[in-house]
This record gives sequence, C-alpha cells and structure tokens, in this order.
Amino acid sequence: MYKRSREEYERACQYLPGGVNSPARAFSSVRQQPLFIDRAEDSRIYDIDGNEYIDFVSSWGPMLFGHCQQDVIAAVADQLKRGTSFGAPTIVETEMAAEIVELIPSVDRVRMVNSGTEATMSALRLARGYTGRDKVIKFTGNYHGHGDSFLIKAGSGPATLGLPDSPGVPEELARLTISVPYNNKDYVEKVFQEQGEEIAAVILEPVAANMGVVPPRDNFLEFLREITEEYGTVLIFDEVITGFRLAPGGAQQYYGVEADLTCLGKIIGAGLPVGAYGGKEEIMDEVAPVGPVYQAGTLSGNPLAMAAGYQMMKLIQQEGVYDRLEDKSSYLASGIKKEISKLEIPCSINRVGSLISLFFTGTEVVDYQTASSSDTELYADYFQGMLKRGIYLAPSQFEAMFVSLKHSQEDLDTTIRAAGEVLQEISKG
Ligand SMILES: *Cc1c(COP(=O)(O)O)cnc(C)c1O
Repeated sequence: MYKRSREEYERACQYLPGGVNSPARAFSSVRQQPLFIDRAEDSRIYDIDGNEYIDFVSSWGPMLFGHCQQDVIAAVADQLKRGTSFGAPTIVETEMAAEIVELIPSVDRVRMVNSGTEATMSALRLARGYTGRDKVIKFTGNYHGHGDSFLIKAGSGPATLGLPDSPGVPEELARLTISVPYNNKDYVEKVFQEQGEEIAAVILEPVAANMGVVPPRDNFLEFLREITEEYGTVLIFDEVITGFRLAPGGAQQYYGVEADLTCLGKIIGAGLPVGAYGGKEEIMDEVAPVGPVYQAGTLSGNPLAMAAGYQMMKLIQQEGVYDRLEDKSSYLASGIKKEISKLEIPCSINRVGSLISLFFTGTEVVDYQTASSSDTELYADYFQGMLKRGIYLAPSQFEAMFVSLKHSQEDLDTTIRAAGEVLQEISKG
C-alpha cells in the first residue's frame, strides 16, 4: 500500500537528515514512515502509490480553501510568466500589505518575510529594540518557529531563568527567555512583579495550536493586554496559525483583544513561503530603513508569493466564509464526540473555529501539562487506523486538524464514521 513511499523514503534518507526537510513530517511519533505526496486537489491529497486521502493537515494550515484553489493558481501562473523575483519593489507587495492593514486593526504597517520563524524572530528583535529591554515571556507548549530565543524550556520557578531546549542554543541567550504555563495568570503576574521592568515582550499563540488546540481561558488575553500595558511591554500575538483562520482579523478580532505586534505565516502565503510581522506605526517605524532595527530579506515580498497571498486575502473576505467553516468544523467535532461517548475511552476534544484536537486523555486540556497527559501510543493507533481508511491526519498528538471549505458533507461523514470504527478498535485493545 505504501511501497513506493517506503522506497523513496529510504532514498531520501541518504541525502536529507531523516529523509525530510522539517521534523514534523517524519511520522516518527506514529510508528510509520512518511508518505510521499504526488499531488492534491480540493480536500484530497494523493500519495505516489496512488492512494487517495481526505486531507486534514492542509499543509499545516494554509489550505483554507482546499488545494489548487483556482484563483491562487491563476495568479501565480500569471506572475510566473513575468518573472519570479526582481529584488526590487512590485505593486503587488503594496496591495497585499494594504489588505492586511485593512483586515487587522492593530496593524498600521507590515513587513513581509519568508516564514513564520522569520516573522517571530524579527518581531522579537523589534520589541527589544523598541523597548531597550532584553527579556521575553513565552508560554510552555507554544511554538514560535525555531528561533534561538523560542527553543527554551522552563526553569523550576517564576524567578528562574529559561534553559536551552535544543543543543546549539546558547545558555546566555536562553536566560533571557522566561517560559510560563499557558493560561496561568498568577504565574505571569509573579514574573512581572519580580522583573517586569526588564521584559521587552510577551509572545503567545492567542489560541495555542502546537500542543494540540488549547483555547485561552478566563480572559487570559485581556489579562495579558492589561499587564503588558502597565509595564510598557510589547504584546506579540503569534497568529501564524490563527491569522485568517478564526476570522478575517485573526484571533484579535475573534476575542476582541488587540496586540502591539502581530506575526503571520501559513495562510498568508496560500501555500507559498511567506511570513509577515506588523503593528502600530510607532513600533514599526523602528524597522530599517526608517529606523535602526535591522531586518532584511533577498526574497521577502517575492512576487509569486505575494500574488498567491493577495488572492487569499480576497478569498477570505467573501461572504459567509467563516460561518461555513464554523458549521463544518462544529459538525465534525460533535460527530466525533458522539462516537467517543459510545465507548469507554478517555478522550477530550478541544475546538476553536476550524482548529480541532482529539486528545487521548480523560482530563480537560488547558495547558502543556494537561496536554502531555495524553496517551501518544493510542494516538499512534488512531492515526494508523485513520490512514488505512483514507483519512490523512497530523502525524502527532500535539497538532490540530485543519478543516477547509473544501471538506464536503460527505468528507465529514466519512471521517466521523472512520473515527467511530477506529476508536472502537482501540477501545477493544
Ligand atoms: C508554524 C508556526 C510557526 C513557524 O512558521 P514556519 O513558517 O514553519 O517557520 C510559528 N508560529 C506558529 C504559531 C506556528 O504554528
């Protein structure tokens, strides 16, 4: 069933570390080898062995309108004929930026980059340059790309310093990052009381989606908005997943809380490599060439990527997009919930809009600690069972299901039925 993928994986391993260009693709936590993809269309993805799947990875988020959306393809094809990159300004960069500024009220100016990682690294440098402070608070289990300052694990108390979470991250730098439990206001407050005047930025995923989906609780975002304002700290929303997925104005609009800086990625490029960071004029004017904070990119604002992204910005503003996404996602989540309720299997589902996670744990998941109580072996069984039935899920317990507008009623029913069967198998052991 996966014969050619297996062969190609072996060949890839001779040339690429682990056969992949990003570790999330390696399937290692689901006891399987990665599938090599031939092509995709709408809600479907096809591997090189000719298997067809209903795709819920959606390129980790960008495929909000399904694969090969025709306006995106046409715009890229049109740009392709006029050149792929010039290293000079193009009109489409302005048009794209104008859309973002229009959609996200807290963003007056925006800088295009090439990935989410670049967006968060640059936003943090800017926050440090703007405030003249060095420390940053992040939340355990939130992911902000692979920048040194974010690959940090928590020390043992609010006053202690962060530790490198990867070899190669200098301890000296790690000490500047304070890693705090998500949704824990008391903890944040303590840190601010002790070292608030040194903290340049608080960065977070306004809905955490990289430890599985974990929504903010008890006005957590409002609380962070207030305390950062009190201490003159820059509030950075990493909306690389939530931006344009929860609402046209991202999680900020969804929850009614404005950030100082916003990081974007994934959806903004419609599947091409794009990131962006933006915010208030006063802060963004510190970025070169207007201000002294240096940040640059040979391929930033690349015309192919901008052509695709601009179409995406138009698509999300169509009538009813987010209502339809909500309907599909709530139907899918409640369908799977119903299957779970028939069985004696410890599972909980978190959902915010079109982001869904099924956790194999009996406890409610509110932070990294509760997420980590999930049985990842059961998830691996579930993943494999679903894959056999033609459902392509994220190969890790700690990721989201990304619902798209191309998931048909039939796709959703097929998925719920498959989940019911697989969960039943699992519950029998
Ligand atoms: C994916 C992701 C990133 C990193 O983006 P890349 O394009 O992979 O560098 C940053 N933040 C969040 C919230 C993400 O989900």
